[in-house]
Amino acid sequence: MKMTENILAEIRKNIRRAKKSEFYKKHFADIHPEDIKTEADFRKLPFTDKEDLRNAYPLGLAAVPEERIVRIHSSSGTTGTPVIIPYTRKDVLDWAKMFKRCYEYAGITSKDKIQITPGYGLWTAGIGFQLGAELLGAMALPLGPGNTDKQIKMMIDMGTTVLTATSSYALLLAEEIERRGIKNRIKLKKGVIGSERWGKKMRARIADELGVELYDIYGLTEIYGPGIGINCMHDSAMHMWSDYMFYELIDPATGKRVKQGERGELVITTLQKEGAPLIRYRTHDLTREVPGDCACGSEHPRIAAIDGRSDDMVKVKGTVVYPSRVDELLSGVDGVSSEYQIMIDHMNGKDIVTVYFETPRPTHEERGALEKTVEREFKAAVGMTPKAKAVGMGELPRSEKKTPRIFDNRY
Ligand code: ZN
Repeated sequence: MKMTENILAEIRKNIRRAKKSEFYKKHFADIHPEDIKTEADFRKLPFTDKEDLRNAYPLGLAAVPEERIVRIHSSSGTTGTPVIIPYTRKDVLDWAKMFKRCYEYAGITSKDKIQITPGYGLWTAGIGFQLGAELLGAMALPLGPGNTDKQIKMMIDMGTTVLTATSSYALLLAEEIERRGIKNRIKLKKGVIGSERWGKKMRARIADELGVELYDIYGLTEIYGPGIGINCMHDSAMHMWSDYMFYELIDPATGKRVKQGERGELVITTLQKEGAPLIRYRTHDLTREVPGDCACGSEHPRIAAIDGRSDDMVKVKGTVVYPSRVDELLSGVDGVSSEYQIMIDHMNGKDIVTVYFETPRPTHEERGALEKTVEREFKAAVGMTPKAKAVGMGELPRSEKKTPRIFDNRY
């Protein structure tokens, strides 16, 4: 994203605010906001990573007195200490404004009925979708996750027009609607899907089976939550709200900025956040900047859909395996569906990699041929031959949150 004098001034203000927190008092002890005069000065500032936020538990990130904090959220840590993000009243309102803008970019209006299936509670997802819907004046149906029977009943009885979900749960609902043969009773027009890495095949299946237009909404709890960016009707790239944040793309290994248009890790600096301002926060989400103007006329810059994480690769037999690479290679194999799982086991002193994939093809012969093709394509794309196992449609587990793809059972 392009740096301007205005943004630099906002960043100086942000650093001043941030340095009121215990965390940045230490992390930025030798940094003085007035010294940040150019983009080069800014790019010398240290990054902030999730581990730093964990170490600031519980309220080391708070940059305002406790009486100004109106809410906290917590990001899901798979291991150890959670991260607590405090919000002021302005932060909560800003988040709702950004979310409303997301809905507007997706062409959603006050006439829509928005069914919210992401979770409520410490997790930021559900409540963000709801605040945005209410500010827009649409009807929110706050179901939260799970209970597929009730989801479908509400969808039919209330005439839901917009489904908000993770891609995994949207797929589960789409398959269930297809299975029950009730597509003609569903009035869905649009799906707003929390952005995570999801392959082209999965997207096409959800769009086809539900008969909806899909929008990728981006966000993370550390930076408000979902709703800090979304794609518009004209393109699949996501507009990022440049009045609330400055973003950069860096090489995850070196921390240096990547060349224009190259893939890198998204790093975000908040510009208006009060409760927990963040400077150069590493999201670990991989994407690239999309240059040029969008046909919609928006001035907010764009990034491509997230296509991986800089920390979700695994190393097997000296080879690095990225789930995004596997998505890509499987989407090129005819007869293989979007759902797969990779199991890594250690047996008799050797690492064993098994790729399970779903296929609609029923016969033993057809499946055997597909397994051979997947093994060959995997070797060509990843550099190592796995054991491929075909299973029927719907046999691999679906998740209401993000569906894990790689299971490393070696340790
Ligand atoms: Zn646009």
